Amino acid sequence: MFGANRAQNPPRGECRQCWYHAYASRQAHAHLAPREDCPDCVSHMRNGHPPHLIVK
Ligand SMILES: [Zn+2]
Ligand SMILES: [Zn+2]
Repeated sequence: MFGANRAQNPPRGECRQCWYHAYASRQAHAHLAPREDCPDCVSHMRNGHPPHLIVK
C-alpha cells in the first residue's frame, strides 16, 4: 500500500523519520520554505540516524 500507511510503516532496518520524510515529503516538509533544507533530514545526513528511530 502506498500513501499514508506506507509512509508510517517503514520496513525493518529503516529510519522512521527519514522514511516518513521521503514518502510523505509534502506533509513532512510542509512547514519549510520551498528551497529550505529540512533540519531533521540534514541532522540525520550529518550525524546518522538515532538508534531509537530504526525499526527493529
Ligand atoms: Zn534518519
Ligand atoms: Zn525532512
